[in-house]
Amino acid sequence: MASQAARRGPQSVDEIIQKRKDEEAALAKPKFLSKKDRERIALEKLTKHREAKLQQHQQNGTFYGSTTTNGTSSTNSTPIPSAPRSMQQQRGDYSRNFKGSSRDAAKNPSPPSETENLDPEAKLLRERYMGIAEIRRQKRRRTASDRKFTFDWKTEDDTSSDYNPIYRGEVSASLGLKNTGEAEEKKKRALELQDILRKKKDTDWDSMHWSEKPLDKMKERDWRIFKEDFSVSTKGGSVPNPMRSWEESGLPPEILRAVEEVGYKEPSAIQRAAIPIALSCRDVIGVAETGSGKTASFVLPLLSYIIEMPVLNEVTKSDGPYAIILAPTRELAQQIETETRKFCNRLGFRCVSIVGGHTISEQSFALQEGAEIVIATPGRLVDCIERRVLVLSQCCYVIMDEADRMIDLGFEEQVNKILEALPVTNTKPDNDDAENPRLMSTYLGGKDRYRQTMMYTATMPPAIERIARQYLRRPATVIIGSAGQAVGTVEQRVEFVTTEEKRRRRMGEILNSGEFQAPVIVFVNIKKNCDMVARELNRIGWKAVILHGGKSQDQREAALKQLRDGEADALVATDLAGRGIDVPDVSLVLNFNMAKNIEDYTHRIGRTGRAGKSGIAMTFLSNDDQDTFYDLKQMLSKSALSKVPDELRRHEAAQAKFAARKTMQNIQ
Ligand code: ADP
Ligand code: MG
Repeated sequence: MASQAARRGPQSVDEIIQKRKDEEAALAKPKFLSKKDRERIALEKLTKHREAKLQQHQQNGTFYGSTTTNGTSSTNSTPIPSAPRSMQQQRGDYSRNFKGSSRDAAKNPSPPSETENLDPEAKLLRERYMGIAEIRRQKRRRTASDRKFTFDWKTEDDTSSDYNPIYRGEVSASLGLKNTGEAEEKKKRALELQDILRKKKDTDWDSMHWSEKPLDKMKERDWRIFKEDFSVSTKGGSVPNPMRSWEESGLPPEILRAVEEVGYKEPSAIQRAAIPIALSCRDVIGVAETGSGKTASFVLPLLSYIIEMPVLNEVTKSDGPYAIILAPTRELAQQIETETRKFCNRLGFRCVSIVGGHTISEQSFALQEGAEIVIATPGRLVDCIERRVLVLSQCCYVIMDEADRMIDLGFEEQVNKILEALPVTNTKPDNDDAENPRLMSTYLGGKDRYRQTMMYTATMPPAIERIARQYLRRPATVIIGSAGQAVGTVEQRVEFVTTEEKRRRRMGEILNSGEFQAPVIVFVNIKKNCDMVARELNRIGWKAVILHGGKSQDQREAALKQLRDGEADALVATDLAGRGIDVPDVSLVLNFNMAKNIEDYTHRIGRTGRAGKSGIAMTFLSNDDQDTFYDLKQMLSKSALSKVPDELRRHEAAQAKFAARKTMQNIQ
């Protein structure tokens, strides 16, 4: 359109008027501005505004540069703040951002209004040069990792040698130092450092957990920790160390392969402790709970023994088995058989069980083929021996599983008969030689080896002790579980005292017998009883303090302090508060009420007999505590210092574990 107009020559007045009208109308219409246009316009406006301001400042003599030491800067037209000014602004910000802190406010008295009073341009400039991000950064809270740079590897994993003093020493020594004396000195120091580091390397083994060490680096202390980790304790002279893994067990490769096939990834505690003992041809007494893997702990060493024996042939198969395993009941014998077969079948050995429920002729038939292992209940085995269905003329490995139950079920006589039927030519000598693995693994007269006997039992009643004395030679005793350690120094006494009235009276008798010195701890099961027992103690002259869940932490602390300081003689506590109480020299723990389970009981009695000192734990029982009787009986019989009273030993509830009894009741 413009080019057309240009070609048409000068415009008429009407045209000019029309053109202006069009232009005005176009201006009045909303006009679309591109982003670029808007930026340009804003920039122009800003420049104009700045120039106007600059002129104004110059006229007033308040240009930034005039406050600096550099007087000439007033000629500088670029409005860039000088360093001191920017620092001032920063401080101003700081004080504003931290105005919550009175200390900062005192240090930076500049009022917050200073920044607010800044004109918009100054604010703009400030934001431009300091940036909003700067202000936010100052606000960010410090975290632990801000304080120190944290590497994501452990210092001991850092194998970089840059900071190793040895290398630093050597570098400076080899830099051709002019003073040879100094070089010598440095070299010497480097060697010393090397020595120190080498020694440190040795001591590093000490600070390592047993699981990280090679076997040959295991020290006495590591074995102690290892045993604690698995609640293993052992008794008897020269007991070999437990095994840390199957690979380190010393079992023959074919047995290890069978273990792997069966799927036992890690040995159980009793297996760790008992297998190395059995493999060193020692007799073993094992004490461990049901379900702890006892069967494999005697079957695996037994199999490694049999592997070394001559293979049974047409002649020798009628000389009887190489090993017998005795169990108290048919069910137990069958359980053992199942477990044993898992390994036997893979190794090509036969095992036969001789239990009630099958006719003698059936069993005679099963034995005809010969078997390396016979699993039997004592009564049935005696039957077979007496009827000459079975001879034991080459039996040299005997295992008695759940020996205490065999005695409880009245099998003592039969067990003795069986043990008497064994050949005597290969019995171990009753002297130190019986502890010597090398001597005990030798062959006697060609094919026989010394007889090895293992006995597993949960308790050690007198009959078991008799059998052990007569048929085991220098046995090593392995105990698994809490009874083995924590409470070894506590003599546990239990009495049936049924009513509360009788308990109060009995408590008075015990405390006033003169046998016990303060401090003592009395455990009750409910808070309410705390007050009652404490009142009774105060009445009989034992100043008592109370500790239960209803007390505040302060009150608990105060009570314990009084007991420790000797201001109080007795503490009356519930289980909740009782855990972890550490008061030295507690001479007596009295369970006014028996704990609801054996774990709590163990914790309670662990308050005495601490730090190697002896202590006594007394417990009042009634039929309300039946659920704990079985465990309690086990616990008492495992403790060398304690006795199981007849009333508990014979109590019906003490014959089987609570859960097992419950199941039986449900079935009936
Ligand atoms: P116990 O005779 O102590 O009551 P058992 O020997 O009968 O216990 O073992 C209990 C169960 O644990 C069995 O089913 C057995 O197969 C399994 N067992 C034993 N040792 C191991 C092991 N090392 N790893 C996994 N399972 C195991
Ligand atoms: Mg078993």
